[in-house]
Amino acid sequence: MARASKGLLSSEERELLEVIGTGNVQKAGLLLGSKNVRVNCLDEHGMTPLMHAAYKGKANLCRLLLQHGANVNCNEHEHGYTALMFAGLSGNKEITWMMLEAGADTDAINSVGRTAAQMAAFVGQHDCVMVINNFFPRERLDYYTKSQGLDIEPKLPIKLAGPLHKIITTTNLHPVKIVMLVQENPLLADVESLGKCCRVLDLICEKCMKQRDMNEVLALKMHYLSCIFQKCSNFLKEREDELNGLLKSLLKGRDTDGFPVYQEKFIRECIRKFPYCEATLLQQLVRSIAPVEIGSDPTAFSVLTQAITGQLGFVDAEFCTTCGEKGAEKRCSVCKMVTYCDQNCQKVHWFTHKKVCKTLQVHEKQDMEAAKVKKKQEKKVEAEEFNSAVGPSSRQIGSMEESACIDPSTSRAEENKTAEASVSSPESAYEDDSSRTSTNIPKESEE
Ligand SMILES: [Zn+2]
Ligand SMILES: [Zn+2]
Repeated sequence: MARASKGLLSSEERELLEVIGTGNVQKAGLLLGSKNVRVNCLDEHGMTPLMHAAYKGKANLCRLLLQHGANVNCNEHEHGYTALMFAGLSGNKEITWMMLEAGADTDAINSVGRTAAQMAAFVGQHDCVMVINNFFPRERLDYYTKSQGLDIEPKLPIKLAGPLHKIITTTNLHPVKIVMLVQENPLLADVESLGKCCRVLDLICEKCMKQRDMNEVLALKMHYLSCIFQKCSNFLKEREDELNGLLKSLLKGRDTDGFPVYQEKFIRECIRKFPYCEATLLQQLVRSIAPVEIGSDPTAFSVLTQAITGQLGFVDAEFCTTCGEKGAEKRCSVCKMVTYCDQNCQKVHWFTHKKVCKTLQVHEKQDMEAAKVKKKQEKKVEAEEFNSAVGPSSRQIGSMEESACIDPSTSRAEENKTAEASVSSPESAYEDDSSRTSTNIPKESEE
């Protein structure tokens, strides 16, 4: 590709840069068809049209420019910025993902030695940091589906590549979520398959640490996933209740406050077992976690998530109490203190939540009642405003909002009896509860 000189633009190229600002895809398409327009032309700062489109958050234009052969790794910018860096700065996740899929180099650094992920983190675009740090091209995994060197068979059976890739690229690292993802795929939920996946994850982890541009974040993620897979495999081998047993262990809260001690210890152990003890990231993690008493903040999960995804704190959105998924909107209707993605996540958690639900309810009842009354009033006003604007058909809105509360209360009396009757051995308590919980919680959402 001929190197474009900075600032020497044809009048059509200048027009293209202007059109990018307006977001007019059609006009840009016409201009790109002109022989006087080079898709990788450079303005006086060394910015390409793609960089402009990425920075301005114009996803459709980015797509168009890539279709016309825009070079995603052009690095003629005066401060060494790449299109991926501009995407990260813009805070547009879709464009960030698009640049990555187009082959953007995540390790490229600007003139002061910062990567795109670091720059995005610096300006607080944590969603973009998360996208960059969790990007793992499918081809990198497919490498293991072919026999290499002296291997008789590939390390990873081709049928496992898809399901494994899905888990590798997930941005929710909650152990319960990962186990659920394993559980929902019969190909993965098998001791032999899990063993092969662990081996491949460990190899990728090693590669991340030994390659020239070391990637500690990805290495740690691979190691962590490998630990969870190993745990799944152990439960499949040793426990009759298999992965359900693992889910229960991870979710079981201690009697005093419902804090999931096993989960906390498990994540701490995963971090501790990271085989590259000289890694800066590991040392940071250990420093953050070691002084924290089990049950206090920050949890190992929040520290790990922050290290891998760049997500700071858990304040700006509701997360599912069971699986950590962002945007959980359903609340336990008894205590109103925990949120879930859906009925299934609530059911899975009820065996342990029911022990603290009442306490939470008593403690928070007054506050929550006040909040509820206020919210209802607000809703009423909203609904009235909506009604006057749209007409009677909007009555549906009200009923949808209502169903956002999940109510386990009809089964509570019986559930409590079960809890009291159960012996102190957690093993037997798990088995008792699982069948009851799943049948007793009414399926309101289906009404
Ligand atoms: Zn959930
Ligand atoms: Zn509750």
